[in-house]
Amino acid sequence: MTTNYFKTYPDEKGYFGNFGGSFIPDELIKEMNNINDAYYSISKSHEFISELRSIRKHFQGRPTPVYYCNRLSNKYGGRIYLKREDLNHTGAHKLNHCMGEALLAKYMGKKKLIAETGAGQHGVALATAAAYFGLECEIHMGEVDIAKEHPNVIRMQILGAKVVPVSHGLKTLKEAVDSAFQAYLQDPINTIYCIGSVVGPHPFPMMVREFQRVVGIEARDQYQEMTGELPDNIVACVGGGSNAIGLFSAFLDDNECKLHGVEPAGRSLNKGEHAATLSLGKPGVIHGFKCYLLQNEQGEPDPVHSVASGLDYPGVGPEHSMLKDLNKVEYHSITDKECIDAFYELSRSEGIIPALESAHAVAYALKLAKANPKQSILVNLSGRGDKDIDFVVDEYGLPGSSK
Ligand SMILES: *Cc1c(COP(=O)(O)O)cnc(C)c1O
Repeated sequence: MTTNYFKTYPDEKGYFGNFGGSFIPDELIKEMNNINDAYYSISKSHEFISELRSIRKHFQGRPTPVYYCNRLSNKYGGRIYLKREDLNHTGAHKLNHCMGEALLAKYMGKKKLIAETGAGQHGVALATAAAYFGLECEIHMGEVDIAKEHPNVIRMQILGAKVVPVSHGLKTLKEAVDSAFQAYLQDPINTIYCIGSVVGPHPFPMMVREFQRVVGIEARDQYQEMTGELPDNIVACVGGGSNAIGLFSAFLDDNECKLHGVEPAGRSLNKGEHAATLSLGKPGVIHGFKCYLLQNEQGEPDPVHSVASGLDYPGVGPEHSMLKDLNKVEYHSITDKECIDAFYELSRSEGIIPALESAHAVAYALKLAKANPKQSILVNLSGRGDKDIDFVVDEYGLPGSSK
């Protein structure tokens, strides 16, 4: 990697190598250009930087710690460390880019934040950011997801957001994206669309990466301070790819650090039973950008599945698509079952209940530790598992129980 990596990728059209870009209607291109221009002029100002720094420290509780897993390391071998994004306010890394996007919206004079949500995690983080800045917030959500994710719907409403039910098609994430885009196009002057990962048309994959880089910058310093060296392995789960790119971005020039992205292998690697996009996808276009995509012969996205609702997306960030082709990051997959085992293992060995998304990264780290007992591993623990506890115990039972 060149030291100019962040200036080189994406290029001015939003390409990371062959991936990214903006495959969107003309009326949206103008808006995306406005956001891009605003991002470059505003986010580099002293005022913006110091306000964001203050928010991270006093509101979000950053820096989040790096933690050494003593019991887990003794049991599996290796030296396993966690970057504790579960301790970030609202319990996951998503608030890092939501606060950045909302702060940009405030500087741009926007009045309202619009987004879609699937399981509700992005909706809750964005509703939190909107409340903080006194902005209106409108979250589009499929009716199927509204029924499934009741606590997050209530959280958004308590925070003052308007939850808009989407009742067409399959009534899930894809329709919610379409609906949110429609609402945004009706008033692009006063509103801004806030994407929930390093996906979507340019400039979102770049902007969200920049707001998530704080995770890697902190973790690299903290790890070096604790150990005097760099980790041999860096591990993060990949849905759209924001928590992974946040951590990886600080280590791209460190050739001694191996980077591992972990995708969901779901119930199996048969079509429709997983979301292992980088392992099994082919280049294609979804939601306004080019990436590896799980798709049928017509280029339509395949149905996907993961036990972790934050990971079940048929596309993936364009930067990950490029990093795969450059062999800079290795991508692996972990099954639902391995994820659940890791969920309980971390809970019982260390007293930390991980989000099911993050448990994919933990599961892969445990495999790595066993295979390489002399090496160190830094895992991004992207979120806490409180949201998942009822589901896990209902579906899988407690370890050792008959269920
Ligand atoms: C949403 C979510 C993810 C997946 O999103 P990325 O953009 O791939 O990081 C991972 N972990 C948690 C806890 C999440 O809420």
